[in-house]
Amino acid sequence: MGLEDIVPAGVITGKDVVTLFEYAREKGFAMPAVNCTSSSTINSALEAASKAKAPVIIQVSNGGGGFMAGKSIKDPNAAAAGSVALALHTRAVAKYYGIPVVVHSDHCAKKLLPWMDGMLEANEAFYAQHGEPLFSSHMLDLSEEPDEENIEICVEYFKRFQKLGIFMEMEIGITGGEEDGVNNEDVDPEKLYTTPKQVWAVFEALSPIGSGFSIAAAFGNVHGVYKPGNVKLSPEKLGNHQAYAKKMLGCENDKPIFLVMHGGSGSTDSEIDLAVSNGVVKMNIDTDTQWAYWDGLRTFESSKREYLQGQIGNPDGADKPNKKFYDPRTWIRKAEESMVKRLLVSFEKLHSTGTYEPSPESGAPQIGAGKKTVNPTVMMMAGVVVGSTATMLARSMMK
Ligand SMILES: [Zn+2]
Repeated sequence: MGLEDIVPAGVITGKDVVTLFEYAREKGFAMPAVNCTSSSTINSALEAASKAKAPVIIQVSNGGGGFMAGKSIKDPNAAAAGSVALALHTRAVAKYYGIPVVVHSDHCAKKLLPWMDGMLEANEAFYAQHGEPLFSSHMLDLSEEPDEENIEICVEYFKRFQKLGIFMEMEIGITGGEEDGVNNEDVDPEKLYTTPKQVWAVFEALSPIGSGFSIAAAFGNVHGVYKPGNVKLSPEKLGNHQAYAKKMLGCENDKPIFLVMHGGSGSTDSEIDLAVSNGVVKMNIDTDTQWAYWDGLRTFESSKREYLQGQIGNPDGADKPNKKFYDPRTWIRKAEESMVKRLLVSFEKLHSTGTYEPSPESGAPQIGAGKKTVNPTVMMMAGVVVGSTATMLARSMMK
């Protein structure tokens, strides 16, 4: 049985997310979680996933949400409003790409919990209307706090998540480097490697509440791209976490834990392979797609520079109009095409290419092609409602 027989296309939540991760862990592939800050980058990620015939994770960060809301907005709820907007855009278009989509939010440190609370409010409102949460999954990152407090806060939030059918990712141990305004460049090197006992403590605390959680255990990962040799990745340590958990559980499953890899940029293929074979089901992609998006625009500008210096006048004639070159749809599309191309490499590296083959009879647009299908008419209506819900939610947050 293929993945398309057990998980529907479109945005998935609840049990479907767990089913997807279980399938990936068993088959030995991982999903790219692509940091998106605009409708354009979301569409690029969805396009790449559709071309790769693979599930994808659309990931929004606090800074990405703030950007989506608009940089001029200083309201403390702007990041939540923007994250909701990104999630709603994803929901409005995901069904046309014919692959399963997980909508997830990235690192949420203790000081950012109001952002999480804002997203939870939107989840509750969406749940009341549609019987499922707006987001599929959220990450809580209390890794800077003492372990005991980290786990305690995760337990508290996981209980709330479970009521709505939301998956949870947590972090224990620290991802080094700098990302989204959080700088861990000078962190104690020992904290860059999580121990099996720490991971087990998390598993033991969360598993009685539900199975829908994953752990970002640090194994020397660093956000961003650094010169080779500066980072010492030890993905073999992830195998130790699984072995320890297996021993403690006395279970048959060699990989009882869902693991997540941050800071994968610049990792070698064999490091990624080892991480995935040790139960990593999600790898975050940000730095490499940021570069690819820019590089697409850079290449376009350099090849068409003489057509981009004024509204009229180019090498073809002094009175020739340049509108078709400076129309944002032209140059943003170049950025998108470059990002799609880079993401196809990520799907390959994570061995997820071709893992989702929608049935031919379902045709396009493919709406919930799997088992738990949502009636297309209802989905269309939901699409309309979503628009006004977005405005309502954004309004209520701005109060
Ligand atoms: Zn990260």
